[in-house]
Amino acid sequence: MNPELIRGLCYIVASILFVFGLRMLSSRATARKGNMVSAIGMLIAIVTALTAMQQVRWAWIIAGAGVGSAVGALAARLVKMTSMPEMVGLFNGFGGLASFLVGWSEFHGKRIAAGAIDQFTIVAIFLTIVIGGITFSGSLVAYAKLSGTITAKPVLYKGRNIINLIILAVIVVLGILFSSQRPEQFDVGGRSSAYVILMFVAALALVLGALSTIGIGGADMPVVICLLNSYSGLAACAAGFVIRNNVLIVSGSLVGASGIILTNIMCKAMNRSLTNVLFGGFGSGTSVAAGAYRGEVKPISAQDAYLILEAASSVVFVPGYGMAAAQAQHAVHELGELLARNGADVKYCIHPVAGRMPGHMNVLLAEANVPYELLVEPQDVNPTMGVVDVAVVIGANDVVNPAAREDKSSPLWGMPIVEVDRARTCIVLKRSLNPGFAGVENPLFFKENTRMLFGDAKASIGSLISEFKG
Ligand code: NAP
Repeated sequence: MNPELIRGLCYIVASILFVFGLRMLSSRATARKGNMVSAIGMLIAIVTALTAMQQVRWAWIIAGAGVGSAVGALAARLVKMTSMPEMVGLFNGFGGLASFLVGWSEFHGKRIAAGAIDQFTIVAIFLTIVIGGITFSGSLVAYAKLSGTITAKPVLYKGRNIINLIILAVIVVLGILFSSQRPEQFDVGGRSSAYVILMFVAALALVLGALSTIGIGGADMPVVICLLNSYSGLAACAAGFVIRNNVLIVSGSLVGASGIILTNIMCKAMNRSLTNVLFGGFGSGTSVAAGAYRGEVKPISAQDAYLILEAASSVVFVPGYGMAAAQAQHAVHELGELLARNGADVKYCIHPVAGRMPGHMNVLLAEANVPYELLVEPQDVNPTMGVVDVAVVIGANDVVNPAAREDKSSPLWGMPIVEVDRARTCIVLKRSLNPGFAGVENPLFFKENTRMLFGDAKASIGSLISEFKG
């Protein structure tokens, strides 16, 4: 059979596996298998692409695969679950860099030097460099913000949006100039005008990526990470057009589209528009002043919290970043089982932006073997919150902040939250009255029906378990 045909079929099989893998990722029950299915698709795609190359420099391929696998294996062991968001940010950046380098090397490639290049490829190279460059530098800034290497607050300066728009406009003008070059002008050996233009475009794309991300606050980083993920897919798609690789075009489009869908979901969960996230400078100090909400804080001991829980017939756990920080997920599940055995109806409500990455709480609760059917979404549980006996907030703060509903001056105003303040009793497990990631004060701590169980979440849950067992 014609080798081209076989390769085409292999690419189709790989693409189908990507689509099915992605589909399986949308359900917790099939997510692991989905990952495996996509990985098999990727293996088929890589092997097929290698067979298509006239001369493969195996030493480079093996060295690259070895280094990549070693870094991946080390990261899987060394990177803590709480550091996953910045890791995802970094991976997006590497995806963008890979596409950037593909565009750059194709520009230098012999095909172009020989003048055998069509206008379509010229445009594709330009897009690969621009989107790849923006993704790379933007992701590095997102990584630095999430890991605390630089301030998580938005770095704002006068006219920043105008400056970014000017840079974008210059890139577009250079893009038109670059794309209108005749193919024979692409002889890079002589440092052609196309070469100079592309150098400028690459530098401006890197600057634009960094500048546009640095003005976004840490609380909006989940949305930015999703958007950069989408960009990395689009860059890969453009790179696919450059090197005429169908499976790269398909996989890049899948990542681009799924990243945009996730961005939209995250924006909705935070009640923000994408424009507001990108240009709003949220978290730059407009938050409610410290001490703005006053009232009596009612601390509670583990013994008294146990008495309330022991008498409860319905309990909703609301985990947040603090549960991840305390690694309390296994203890939470054990407490949930004790409560269920005691006759309570137990549910776990996960807010879409709880924690520090999309699906953060889902991953932790799955790791602790909490049954999927006990997980509920805020919109499912909020309508019945008034008849819930106890809402137990485990290291969550922003996602349960009632100021989102009650205080128009709060930066969180309008964000859908888990309405734990409407439960008969709300027990909040955290170490202090400090605000959460968004830096916004929380009036929940002063509510009549709120009890504060101060301390590390794992230790507090451990004490409750001991009370139950005792
Ligand atoms: P949060 O608002 O950041 O609050 C977490 C709380 O956990 C803190 O107030 C902290 O209070 C407490 N805590 C920390 N360590 C603890 C420990 N060992 N034991 C007990 N409590 C502990 O968390 P959230 O309610 O989950 O909200 C998530 C926030 O992060 C949102 O603003 C979201 O936009 C943002 N974000 C989300 C993502 C994402 O993709 N999910 C990514 C980046 C940012 P104490 O210090 O008083 O203990």
